[in-house]
Amino acid sequence: MPKVIVVGGGFSGVSAAACARNAGADVTLVERTDQLLGVGLHSGIYYNDGRMSAVEELKALGGGYIFDIIGTHPVLTHPRTEMKWAGVEELAHRHGENHIFHCMKAETYIRKYLRGIGVELIFADRAVDVAMGRAQNNQGSKMLAVKLEKGRVLTGDAFVDTTGGAGGIQVCVDYGYGCVECMLRCNSFGDRVSIATKAGAPELRKLRDTKHGGGFGALSSATSFYDDSIDPELLEAVRREGSWKVDVPEEVQNMLKIGLSTNLPYDPSHVKVIKMAYPGFFKANGMVYMPLEDVRKIPGFEHARFSDPLGGGVGNAVRFMSMAPRENSLKVSGFANLFVGGEKAGPNVGIQEAIVTGAVAGHNAARNAFGKDLLVLPRATVLGDFIALVQEMMGSEKGLMETYSFMKPTFRRHMASKGCGWLGWRDGSEA
Ligand SMILES: Cc1cc2nc3c(=O)[nH]c(=O)nc-3n(C[C@H](O)[C@H](O)[C@H](O)COP(=O)(O)OP(=O)(O)OC[C@H]3O[C@@H](n4cnc5c(N)ncnc54)[C@H](O)[C@@H]3O)c2cc1C
Repeated sequence: MPKVIVVGGGFSGVSAAACARNAGADVTLVERTDQLLGVGLHSGIYYNDGRMSAVEELKALGGGYIFDIIGTHPVLTHPRTEMKWAGVEELAHRHGENHIFHCMKAETYIRKYLRGIGVELIFADRAVDVAMGRAQNNQGSKMLAVKLEKGRVLTGDAFVDTTGGAGGIQVCVDYGYGCVECMLRCNSFGDRVSIATKAGAPELRKLRDTKHGGGFGALSSATSFYDDSIDPELLEAVRREGSWKVDVPEEVQNMLKIGLSTNLPYDPSHVKVIKMAYPGFFKANGMVYMPLEDVRKIPGFEHARFSDPLGGGVGNAVRFMSMAPRENSLKVSGFANLFVGGEKAGPNVGIQEAIVTGAVAGHNAARNAFGKDLLVLPRATVLGDFIALVQEMMGSEKGLMETYSFMKPTFRRHMASKGCGWLGWRDGSEA
């Protein structure tokens, strides 16, 4: 049976593995840590604004395996209750207008699902090198195998790089505030390694504007706290409702750090208000980082202590440091049998964005392995249009200054300019 190797078990990698396997390929997924879901282990909020369209479209196309898991009890804990919409320019995360899932349960349920459909999972080992062969028919370089740190060599017919763009430690030292001990745990499992980069693909990085010091990458924009360090009433409200918000005292608001974060285009509301959620832990969404003394001036946070990243008082993990130029089939440009998904496939942020690009990459890896033509979703679809727009944006310096998602104004404005409702519905209505 044709063999697909997926490297990197974040949301993009698990979606790629599910789609490649369900398309009939023999699939091995290798993840450098002991857990799936990567940075998505601290996500939990989804289905907001245009992201709803992305979820429903992938499900309608038949690739929504991971969405089915996180959208079902007991992984889904707080279903969306509100269906009212604001304008194109407003960022989402309004109370009740998103689904919330339990990140830890998502990890175990997805692990079980993948094993159940016959995906081989390799944990706590890293792909550290590749073996390349010659391409036939001028189709580009052909990957033959990936080499793992502990000595195993995985040969395959097609490969998917879903290693993300976060860290490793030197990246966080050079472009952030040092290792802040985030969920990626580079100290324990080693740094991120991209097999596309190892194979010789160019490595694009997100650019920062000069107003924010120039340089590369973006800081993750959420932190988590130990439950017991939060005021019990506030904790209870967030647990019960799924999400909640608290005003940040003016004296500790810091606008500058928003410009360093993945929350571009800038959303000042993330500085003035802390939007909390409970995806199995107490999460301060939009809090890029904040000195602990300042955090403790926010009502309800008087005894706060960071649980992720542990160094959330000084900084956060640096992301978008390794994107590969790719086609709209998610095949890496210049390579015959190598695909990318998630944050490796462009400055797209979010689990929906990782899952849908991972799905196309995994499905096409299987098609490639079976010798079939690749699927390119038409621009008439929300997914096809997003994948193509991000590819265009990756081609310019200006485009590499932003991050993209189905809920951010850039994509919604683009959809509106095409005469679609800004949620991506073809008839122009909003629901
Ligand atoms: C704190 C935080 C909160 C967030 N909250 C939300 C949210 O609420 N909603 C939302 O939609 N999005 C959220 N996001 C964004 C979202 O989680 C990410 O955009 C998405 O999960 C990225 O998935 P990925 O698979 O592309 O990359 P990653 O999650 O980075 O996965 C890459 C994986 O590859 C592994 N890897 C790297 N190198 C190797 C190698 N050589 N061999 C083997 N494995 C390797 C890594 O260990 C990792 O597991 C959040 C992000 C952060 C950091």
